[in-house]
Amino acid sequence: MTGLKVIIVGAGIGGLAAANALARGGIDVTVLEQARALGEVGAGVQLGPNATRVLASMDLLQPMLDRAVVPEAQIAFSFDDGRELRRVAFADKLKQTFGFPYLHMYRPDLLDVLAKGFGGDLRLGAAVAAVEEEPGRVGARLASGEVVWGDVLVGADGIHSVIRRMLHGDVPARFSGYMAWRGLCPGDAGRAMRTPVVSANWWGPGAHFVHYYVAGGRYLNWVGVTPHDGSAVESWTAKGDIVQALRDYGGWHYRVADIIKATPRAMKWALHDRDPLPFWSKGRVTLLGDAAHPMLPFMAQGAAQSIEDGFVLRRCLEAADDVPAALKRYERNRLERTAWVQSGSRKNEHLFHLADAAAVAARNARMQGEVDANPEAVQPDQSRLFGYDPVYDSLQD
Ligand SMILES: Cc1cc2nc3c(=O)[nH]c(=O)nc-3n(C[C@H](O)[C@H](O)[C@H](O)COP(=O)(O)OP(=O)(O)OC[C@H]3O[C@@H](n4cnc5c(N)ncnc54)[C@H](O)[C@@H]3O)c2cc1C
Repeated sequence: MTGLKVIIVGAGIGGLAAANALARGGIDVTVLEQARALGEVGAGVQLGPNATRVLASMDLLQPMLDRAVVPEAQIAFSFDDGRELRRVAFADKLKQTFGFPYLHMYRPDLLDVLAKGFGGDLRLGAAVAAVEEEPGRVGARLASGEVVWGDVLVGADGIHSVIRRMLHGDVPARFSGYMAWRGLCPGDAGRAMRTPVVSANWWGPGAHFVHYYVAGGRYLNWVGVTPHDGSAVESWTAKGDIVQALRDYGGWHYRVADIIKATPRAMKWALHDRDPLPFWSKGRVTLLGDAAHPMLPFMAQGAAQSIEDGFVLRRCLEAADDVPAALKRYERNRLERTAWVQSGSRKNEHLFHLADAAAVAARNARMQGEVDANPEAVQPDQSRLFGYDPVYDSLQD
């Protein structure tokens, strides 16, 4: 289809990645963002080859690499004695196998590269309150009363999506029972502690802790996931709460405590997800990113899946001459894969937070055994996750 105008609601990673994909396909795009300034949480994000190959196809990989950190390996450590439980050769192996790198990015950098790469019609302070439908067109009604019309409307407005609510009703997201501490330790402090340039996962009873460098090494980003009663709100918290984070990791290896202590402030984040939706598209309206498939961060794939979504959407719109049929095809090509990642992330919720000592020992032995048995191989789930190519793999009709 040519001459299409697409309205994207939300300028997060998903909305802006889709704007890049669609605009490069010659589609006229307007992005409506409620916030008055573009912004992302000051934290890290991991992007696997399934996402970086899409960025490469849009000439955005090099600007990302200029600000990224590429990890040497993925290492699992034991929470109490700091023993290496499993080391997977990572960056080189993934690049050799899948052709594209695994990146650690600082989120504001990622968003900045996407915003500059789009460079099109991005309206800030434009909160969408409702969707208007007329024969042959669809409109986004702003809180101001203005209606912005187009041929397609994409809800990329996050886990609490207004557009999803219009399609599926007001169902609250599921609270997982966990919250995430997120912090940025100065990179120099990380290096002084000899923290390696890897993706590090510390697994302890009932909790886990992840760290990796971002922003070319300026920060050592960390995420600590601990059980919680659900009262946590998404907010930056005062330095005093570093004490609380340290308390949550009492009894863990001193390296974990040292990283937390060297961090000026931390952020609390309640972790929610949803069950897969039965459909994403209706008429000229569809969903993308967390609006469509919010997931727990335990496969580090929410943003990556939203980047995949945008490119598949472009291919479906390019190939069809009927908007509702193109959006249904997009949904058919995305629902099963994103539901698989949603459910895999829930399985890891269990695996990462085992509390029983015997179950923890069995898990650790099994995981190391898999690597020892075949140290050169990528794991089967990694092949399915990172081997998918939204740019060139054939799409279902
Ligand atoms: C602790 C943690 C760690 C994570 N780590 C990773 C990782 O390593 N790798 C990975 O791939 N993913 C990771 N994720 C998931 C990832 O952050 C999300 O999946 C991704 O950011 C979702 O992007 P999005 O654009 O769909 O939604 P959002 O980032 O939520 O963006 C939605 C945008 O829509 C705007 N908006 C909302 N309502 C309206 C409205 N009515 N009108 C206009 N605008 C509106 C919002 O202001 C916002 O800008 C992690 C998540 C968490 C919580």
